[in-house]
Amino acid sequence: MVPMRKEEGDTPFVQELKQIPGLKVRVGEPLARHTSIKIGGPADYFLEVERCAALPRVLKLLDRYEIPFCILGKGSNILVSDLGARGAVIRLGIEFKQIEWLEKGGEALVTAGAAYPVTQLVREAMRKGYSGLEFAEGIPGSVGGALVMNAGAYGSEIEKIVVRVEGVTQRGEPVQFSRDKMVFSYRDSHLPPGTLVTRVCVRLLKDKTEEVGLKVRELVTRRKKSQPSGHPNSGSMFRNPPGDFAGRLIEAAGLKGKRIGRAEISERHANFIVNLGGAKAEDVRRLMEMARAEVKKRFSIELQPEVRLLGAWPLSDAGH
Ligand SMILES: Cc1cc2nc3c(=O)[nH]c(=O)nc-3n(C[C@H](O)[C@H](O)[C@H](O)COP(=O)(O)OP(=O)(O)OC[C@H]3O[C@@H](n4cnc5c(N)ncnc54)[C@H](O)[C@@H]3O)c2cc1C
Repeated sequence: MVPMRKEEGDTPFVQELKQIPGLKVRVGEPLARHTSIKIGGPADYFLEVERCAALPRVLKLLDRYEIPFCILGKGSNILVSDLGARGAVIRLGIEFKQIEWLEKGGEALVTAGAAYPVTQLVREAMRKGYSGLEFAEGIPGSVGGALVMNAGAYGSEIEKIVVRVEGVTQRGEPVQFSRDKMVFSYRDSHLPPGTLVTRVCVRLLKDKTEEVGLKVRELVTRRKKSQPSGHPNSGSMFRNPPGDFAGRLIEAAGLKGKRIGRAEISERHANFIVNLGGAKAEDVRRLMEMARAEVKKRFSIELQPEVRLLGAWPLSDAGH
């Protein structure tokens, strides 16, 4: 399917969308504007849901018109095809950035909207002297994206602090999952397909403010030493295989600094691919294929992508 052009956007479907209060509709929106690696073709419909009440209405409309959709957080773990995404891409806006703190007896239950930035949450916890989220400083995602990906670093993951997740099904019905009903694994939260996360409640423990600050600063220093800065990227491209590191394997395969087009396997950390300016999604994907093939050939290890591929790809194994 070819991408939809802006002038093709005035259909009955779009007219109905435009009647939903608290929804911004853009047709043919380039997704490169919304991904941390600054790559990605257009979404047919880019739907920014500003108000909570608009979300079920949007989902019901998509269902009625049989328009496929996918969800974008802050786009920091996503590689969008150069052809973009057919159907709708939903992003949560202002009313999904609210936060509530319930502080009691040495702990805090913090309920954050899915669009709330993770680093902002880390810094608030640090200011208030609560521990549990230090690992997440420097993870440039949203709370919803972090939950879905079971984001983690330096031996901790979000699953360790989750209490409850609220969301809606793909048909717009409300759902809730308490921690004991959820199964997390490395970089996955195994929510039912199509679940859209709207709020996440986490438990943090009271600590000395200086201690929390110290730990955050220590981890920031570690992160700065090991990760590339200066060029847009999507974080780690591959999951670490059991007992090893994807970056170590790719480096040992001699691929550090390897370029295709304007994409490069980072000289700093071989599990990062950076956009040197003007890189195509296809360049990144070919570098990923090269890394997979070379690591398989040399070490008989099959690397699995951590980054989620989104959209319409010319070759087989991707899509939303
Ligand atoms: C420089 C850099 C460093 C990073 N470091 C780390 C790290 O240390 N540890 C780590 O784990 N990750 C890291 N990442 C990857 C990324 O930041 C995390 O995976 C982050 O949690 C993704 O959040 P996001 O909001 O950007 O989600 P997106 O990338 O937008 O989406 C990721 C997935 O979540 C889904 N999703 C997003 N929001 C919702 C929602 N509300 N409901 C349902 N599904 C949703 C999307 O459909 C997609 O499948 C890093 C990335 C960068 C660029």
